[in-house]
Parts: sequence; structure tokens; C-alpha cells
Amino acid sequence: MRVVEMAACGGPEVLVAATRPVPEPAPGQLLVRVGAVGVCGHDLLARRGLLAARPGSVLGHEIAGEVVGLGDGTPPGWAGRRVALMQRIPCGTCEWCADGRTTSCRSGPGFYGEDLPGGYAQYVVASPLNAVPLPDHVDLATGAILSCAVGTGRRALRAAEVGAGDVVVVTGAGGGVGVHTVALAHHLGAVVVALTGSPGKVDALRALGADRVLARADVREVRAALAELGRPRGADAAVEITGGPTFTTALRALAPRGRLALVGNTEPATLPLDPGLTIVKELRVHGSAHADRDDLAAVVDLVAAGAVAPVATVRRPLAEAAAAHADLEARAVTGRTVLLP
Ligand SMILES: [Zn+2]
Ligand SMILES: [Zn+2]
Repeated sequence: MRVVEMAACGGPEVLVAATRPVPEPAPGQLLVRVGAVGVCGHDLLARRGLLAARPGSVLGHEIAGEVVGLGDGTPPGWAGRRVALMQRIPCGTCEWCADGRTTSCRSGPGFYGEDLPGGYAQYVVASPLNAVPLPDHVDLATGAILSCAVGTGRRALRAAEVGAGDVVVVTGAGGGVGVHTVALAHHLGAVVVALTGSPGKVDALRALGADRVLARADVREVRAALAELGRPRGADAAVEITGGPTFTTALRALAPRGRLALVGNTEPATLPLDPGLTIVKELRVHGSAHADRDDLAAVVDLVAAGAVAPVATVRRPLAEAAAAHADLEARAVTGRTVLLP
């Protein structure tokens, strides 16, 4: 099969075409022909060698495709199904899995692109534990981004306990996770203040339901917008998607007892958490990992019902993986790019 692998750690040019044998599904597993694979900020960090991927790795954890083979003992009903995949194949039996906390499982095949070959390829293995069937009218390019680009936001909004009437600040709102978090928060009935580093993304964010969009805003501008929305003491919640670049602004934008879900880490570094502010305001900072299968299934239902309309905004052939990385690094993409193997 054709793949794009990392020849080394480095710039986009290290992503090169290669061929590999089609993987064999183990007992209980699925063989999935990849229809589309998303390109994520995580992939940029992995390519630079900052995560677990190493030279020879095949990246890509945002995968949708068609089940074209079954391992021994896999229920036959999976054959031919169109599926969206969660980023990690959990083991299904460890204490974390038994407790429903599959994002903490470290015993299964693991995370695509790091523990097992990812979706920058024509085929991957999967499992009923990480696959969710897609309705007929949801195409595979959309399916590919449902777990990471949409499910991550769904999980973070739940971690921050965002509900109807809450005012929520979403940072990094113009990126792949950001645009969908804005749309989901709007769907929940929250009032959304979207922060973006890119003035060119303002109109798109308004169209997705953001009540205020601020480009390159400092905390004073954010607080002024919150006051206009009836929250002079600050926001009820924040979803922090960039990590370091906006963390202080998001934290200082919170009202007393505000909740911050920390979900993005675009520039890995230690964050300046102000203890005085956090203590006096009794803030809660809550890490939120990738979507689990329940988040993915919920997102598939929301999409099927038309409640949110995720968009893979850019679609390119797999051979253009390096160019897709370069564009994402230049922040030239609003929303998500998918590669089509
Ligand atoms: Zn991702
Ligand atoms: Zn497990």
C-alpha cells in the first residue's frame, strides 16, 4: 500500500512517499481502507520529534474509512461498514477501560501515528472499541475529523461544564478544534467569545455562532467584551486550545469560580499559573484529553441530526501531505484539512 512516512524529524519536507505491506487485522480487529485522514496541529509537533513519533512513523490519527477485512472472531456485522475512528485503540480490559476511562488506557494497540501506524496510508487496523459507524449521508472527509476536531471540543466543553446561558471564552478559535468548539458551544446555548490570532478568520467565526470575535486581543479587550455581554466580573468558562500563547488571558478572563478546560498545547512549555488569582477566585483548571468512543458517538449523532455541520475545509491527495503541513504551520488554513489516500 502507499503511505507517507516521516523520513526523519524536521520540517514538512521529511514527509515522503513509501510503500508498506497492507496490515493484518489481529483477532477481534478490523481492517479499514482509509477514505480520509485529517491533518492536525498534533501532527506538526509529532513531525518535529516533540511527541512519541520517530523516523519511520506513519502519522495520522483522524481517520475514517470502510471496513474491508475482519480479524478472527470479529463480529461479521462490521464488514463493509463506513466508520469514523477514535484516535486510540484501547485494550478494553485494563482497570481504566473497565472504568470507561479509555483515554487513560496504555495497554492496547494505542495511538495512531505513535504506537501503531496511522492514517497517512491506504489501510489501517482498527477495532470495534474505537470505531463508530457513520450514517450514509456523512461523507468520509467529514467522518475523519469528527473525533479529534469535533469530539475534542465536545469533551472540553463537558469538562468546563458549559451549558445554556453560560458565557464561554474559546481561544485558538480559528483552528480545526476551535471552529468546531465554537459551533458546539453555540449549539449548547452558550454565549461564545472567540479569540483568534488571525484577523482573516473573524467572519468565519461569526458565521459559526460566535457572539463576539476578537483578533489578537489582550485581556483588557476580552474583559470589555465580557462586560458588554453582561459579565463584568468575567466569563463562566474558558476552553484553552492554544495552551501557552493565550493561557494567561483565558485565566484572567474568568469570573470567580470560573472553569478552564485546557485542551491545546501548540507551543509545549510550562504555563504561568498565577496562584493568587486561582486561589482568590477559586478557579478550576481541568485538563481534557482526546475524545473517547462515547464523545465520538455523540458527535456522530449531532452531525446526523444536523445540529452541527463540521467541515473539512481543505481536501488534498495524500501525496500533498508535506504541503498540507506547511500551510497549517503558516496558519493559512481555517478549519481542518483532510488528505484523501
Ligand atoms: Zn488531531
Ligand atoms: Zn485498557
